[in-house]
Amino acid sequence: MTTNYFKNYPNHEGFFEDYGGSFIPPQLQTEMEKITDAYYSISKSHNFISELRSIRKHYQGRPTPVYFCNRLSTKYGGRIYLKREDLNHTGAHKLNHCMGEALLAKYLGKKKLIAETGAGQHGVALATAAAYFGLECEIHMGEVDIIKEHPNVVRMKILGAKVVPVSFGLKTLKEAVDSAFGAYMQDFENSIYCIGSVVGPHPFPMMVRDFQRVVGIEAKEQFLDMTGELPDSVVACVGGGSNAMGIFSAFLEEKDVKLYGVEPSGRSLNLGDHAATMTLGTPGMIHGFKCYLLQDEKGEPSPVYSVASGLDYPGVGPEHSMLKDWKRVSYETATDDETIDAFYELSRQEGIIPALESAHAVAYALKLAKQNPRESILINLSGRGDKDIDFVVDTFGLPE
Ligand SMILES: *Cc1c(COP(=O)(O)O)cnc(C)c1O
Repeated sequence: MTTNYFKNYPNHEGFFEDYGGSFIPPQLQTEMEKITDAYYSISKSHNFISELRSIRKHYQGRPTPVYFCNRLSTKYGGRIYLKREDLNHTGAHKLNHCMGEALLAKYLGKKKLIAETGAGQHGVALATAAAYFGLECEIHMGEVDIIKEHPNVVRMKILGAKVVPVSFGLKTLKEAVDSAFGAYMQDFENSIYCIGSVVGPHPFPMMVRDFQRVVGIEAKEQFLDMTGELPDSVVACVGGGSNAMGIFSAFLEEKDVKLYGVEPSGRSLNLGDHAATMTLGTPGMIHGFKCYLLQDEKGEPSPVYSVASGLDYPGVGPEHSMLKDWKRVSYETATDDETIDAFYELSRQEGIIPALESAHAVAYALKLAKQNPRESILINLSGRGDKDIDFVVDTFGLPE
């Protein structure tokens, strides 16, 4: 791996080797090329960089700390550290790329941000960014999710966003993406589509990764400061893969640092019971880009499930797909049960309630710690678990 990694990946067509690219209608392609060109020039300008820096420090509360888990390490072995993205404003890493995307929208003179949301986490982060910049915000959400994720729907409305119910198909995330893309096609002069992860057509996987790199840059420096060395392993959960790309990006070129991406193996590895794209998927196409995909014989995305709604996506970022083929990152899984155990362990050993998404990374890290008691592990704690508390206690009960 060379020091030109970030210059070479993606290439000019948005490919990470065989993955990524942009497979969309011609009209939209023209607009995407405009956004790509603007991103290349604006994101390198002094004004853009200093405004984004100031927002991260004074509004988001960055840098978020790295924390050593003393009790958890004593109990499980190893030295376990957390990068505390749960302490980023709005309680997760998603605001890192939403503020970047909204700032780009401002520089492009756009008036409206359009996006889909599944569980509502991306919708809330984007509605927050829209309020900050005084932009309109339209969030498309399946009717099934609107009922399930009521508090996030209310949050988006309080923040001034318009929530558009999507009532066709399964009425969940995939249809919400279709609906949001449709609305964007109608009005791409005034609006910009803000995707929720390192997925979608070029330039989104690259832009979202670049905005999330702050997580890895901070974490590497903080970890070195605290310990005088690099971590032996870095662990992050993978839905689309934005928080994982954020933290991995700083360690990709450090050969001795092992990287682990953790996907949900859910209730079982039977069709429809998991979202273990890297373990069971094959190369395919979804939402305008190529990646590993859980799919049927016709190439249609398979139904997916996870106890963490932020992880139930049948595809995965193109960069992760490349890193899997390169064997630079090991993609592993955690079950629902392991995740719930980890959720309570981190809460009770350290006083930190993790998001169910992040609890997948914690679950795998606890296994690693037991296997390698002399090594250090840095976990990206992508979000806090307040959103999950009622669901967890109602569904799984409280432990002794
Ligand atoms: C949305 C979400 C994820 C999954 O998204 P990635 O793009 O894979 O990072 C993980 N953790 C939290 C807390 C989330 O809200």
